[in-house]
Amino acid sequence: MNPPLLELPHLLEIAHARASLAPRFYAIVAALGSPRAVWEALHGAGVFPEPVGRYYASLRRFGVETTLDALFTAERLPAIRRFVEGPRAVGPPRVSVSTLANQFYCEMQVHLARTHTLRTESAELAAGAAGHAAFEAEAEEITQEEISEAITAGEPLELVEMPVTAEIHGVRLVGRADRIHLEGRRGRLVLEFKFSGRRELFPSHVVQVEAYGRMLESMGFQTDRLLYGVAVLPRGRRVSDALARKIAEAAFEVARAGLSATDARPPSGVPDPLSGLTVRRVDDEAFGLWVFRHSRQRVERDLQWATSYWTGARAPEGTMARGKCRACPFNAAELCGVSKAPPDGRYAVRRTLGRFGVTHVVQPASRR
Ligand code: SF4
Repeated sequence: MNPPLLELPHLLEIAHARASLAPRFYAIVAALGSPRAVWEALHGAGVFPEPVGRYYASLRRFGVETTLDALFTAERLPAIRRFVEGPRAVGPPRVSVSTLANQFYCEMQVHLARTHTLRTESAELAAGAAGHAAFEAEAEEITQEEISEAITAGEPLELVEMPVTAEIHGVRLVGRADRIHLEGRRGRLVLEFKFSGRRELFPSHVVQVEAYGRMLESMGFQTDRLLYGVAVLPRGRRVSDALARKIAEAAFEVARAGLSATDARPPSGVPDPLSGLTVRRVDDEAFGLWVFRHSRQRVERDLQWATSYWTGARAPEGTMARGKCRACPFNAAELCGVSKAPPDGRYAVRRTLGRFGVTHVVQPASRR
């Protein structure tokens, strides 16, 4: 068979390049943090010229390791070499708002997710994605020019899935807010939808909306009367525009009835975003809603703590909650050195030796 022999030099060149470039390539990618940041870097360098949707689709289907491994082709090698060996602009670390919020569940989990490949099955994640997809599909397209005109004219504006980015405390925060209500240059409401069987307000929910509020402030919007709303809906529930408006109206109604912003307690260790928070709860058949006001002091306390991990000012902290450690897939995969309790014995762990390390696949046995 001649063709394979003819291709041999080609394959050898790829194999040599892979051996010399891959370790550094993977280290650079791991340091980038979020999948979006990785795609932007690879896309900008010509290593992954395809659109971001293709990158996410590949991550979902094959995982990060296989996706990156597949980039080592003859066509892409020059771009990979430039990417690895060329000078790189050093910018602030780029962090998604949802990752930042997850630090308030357990920061060590966020840290371990950056440094290890671990795939889990999660019914909650699937339900959240379904709810958001339904929500997005109904939203009316609006151009950047139309947004700018409405803001300049001081008109009320309801923005759905709005991309927001700002540099805060040396970190580039990026995210998409579920719903933001503006009136000219004044922020009126930041509303997030959560899909869960438990109607409960968690610290990570508070931080997520707070971060969007702080980012609006950085973008030049007034936030002195800004309201935050967190709506919890059953898993898989479709958020129609009518339902979203009803929830937003309920938030404004609660605020009109009286809602004060409170000062934050001084920070010590991991701040608790729920402490010092005046919050009103609305219970409807279709949703649970928590409404609270923006407090600069509280937001600063929470964001300063969270961003100091990303700037390298301190090491990651693990939660003190034993229950979280018991339910933690990183604990089940024996990756956490600061666990406070043994993992739930119902986890099934599969280890796959990948080309560049170990992939841990963890599935709660009860859901298989
Ligand atoms: S075992 Fe506990 S401390 Fe460690 S990552 Fe998991 S939840 Fe965090």
